[in-house]
Amino acid sequence: MSWFASVAPLPPDPILGLSEACKEDPRKEKLDLTAGTFRTPERLEPYMFEAVKRAEEQLLKVEKNKDYLPVAGDPLFLDRLGAVVFGNEDWSKYRANIASLQTAGASGSLRVGGEFLHSLLQRPIYISAQTWPNHRHIMRESGFIVDSYPYYDFKRHELNFEGLYKFCEGLPPSTPLLLHLCCHNPTGCDLTLDQWKALSELMRRKKLFPFLDCAYQGFGEGIDKDRSPLHIFIKDGHEFLLSYSCSKTFTIYSERAGALFVFTKEERIAKTVLSVIKMKSRGLISNSPAHGALIVSIILHDPALRASWLEDIEKVRKRVAVMRQKLVEILGEKYAFIGRGKGIYSVLGLSGPQVEQLRKEYGIYMTLEGRINLTALNEESITYLANAMRNVIPHA
Ligand code: PLP
Repeated sequence: MSWFASVAPLPPDPILGLSEACKEDPRKEKLDLTAGTFRTPERLEPYMFEAVKRAEEQLLKVEKNKDYLPVAGDPLFLDRLGAVVFGNEDWSKYRANIASLQTAGASGSLRVGGEFLHSLLQRPIYISAQTWPNHRHIMRESGFIVDSYPYYDFKRHELNFEGLYKFCEGLPPSTPLLLHLCCHNPTGCDLTLDQWKALSELMRRKKLFPFLDCAYQGFGEGIDKDRSPLHIFIKDGHEFLLSYSCSKTFTIYSERAGALFVFTKEERIAKTVLSVIKMKSRGLISNSPAHGALIVSIILHDPALRASWLEDIEKVRKRVAVMRQKLVEILGEKYAFIGRGKGIYSVLGLSGPQVEQLRKEYGIYMTLEGRINLTALNEESITYLANAMRNVIPHA
C-alpha cells in the first residue's frame, strides 16, 4: 500500500496546462493563444529581447562566482528596478520608506506579500472577478479566504466601474484588495486615471488596503504612463504592497525575477517590515535566483542596452495595437472593444462551449474565459482565428 494512495489528483493548470496540451496536439494547423509569453511575428516562436542576450554575454565575462545573494536580494537590482517602477523622482524621494525585496518572479512576491499581509489583516482578500487564475491560488496558499470584487461587464464589454466602486464602498475597514496596476489580465481593460483617483480616495476613506500587482509595465501606454496609478496612491497618502514581475517586461519568464515593494510611511517602519519579509522569503525559497536579476540590472545600467530594451517594449506595444485593430477590421465593429484594450491580452466574449469548440475543431487554444495573447497572432493566424470564430459564433 502506498503512502500516497489517498492523494487525489488535481486538474492541470488553467493556463500552462492548456499550453502543454497544445504542444501535444498532433494537428499541423493549430494556434496557442494561452500563455502570456511573446512570440515572433514571423513564426510565432518564443523569443527574448536582444538586450537580454547582450546582457548575458556581459555577465558571462564579469561573473566571478555563484555565491548566494543577500537575503533581501541584489541591492543594485532593487535600486535600478525601483527607479523604473516608481520613476526616478518618487524613487529618490521615497526609497528609504520602501521595504524592497527581490523575489522569484511576481508569483514569489505575491506569495511573500500575501503571507505578510495575512499576518496583519485577518480579513478575506478581494481579487478582481476576472483575473489571472493564480491570484486566487497564491492568496489561498498565503492563508487568505479569497473573494472577488466586480470588474468587467461581459455584456457591454467594458469596465463595470460603478459595480466595483459600490462594492468597495460596502467593504469593512482593513480589507485588502488585490488590484492590477495596468494591462489587466485577462480583459485588457484598465481603470482611467479619474477612476483610479476615485477608487484611491474611496479606499483611503474606507481604510481599505491596496495590494498592487504590476506584471506588464510598458505594454499599455509605455513605461512612464503605466505607472501613473502609483503616483495617485502615493499622493493620497496610502501605504501599500506592490508586486512586480520582470518576466514579461524583460522577456525572462523562466529566470524568475521580480520584487516586492512595501511602501510605508517612514524609514523606521520600512526597516522593520524588511526584516519580516526577508524572513518570510528565507522560509519559502531561502535565497532568490540571481541570474535574471543580474540581467535586469545590467540592462538598466548600460545606456545602449537600456535603449534597446525600451525599443523592444515599444515594438511589442505597437504590434499588439496593430493586432487589435486587425481583429476589429476583420470581425467588425461589434468587436471594437478589442481595439480599446491595453496590454497583451483581450477576452473575445466567447462562451465556454465556443472556446471548447475552437479547441476541438480548429486546434485554437485559449483560456477558458476566452482570453487570447495578442502577441501570439500574426497576419496569417489572425485570419485563421477570425474565420474559425465566424464558424462557431452564430451571426459573427
Ligand atoms: N500577475 C499577473 C497579473 C500575471 O499575469 C502574472 C503572470 O502571468 C504574474 C503576476 C506572475 O508573473 P511571474 O511570472 O513573474 O511570476
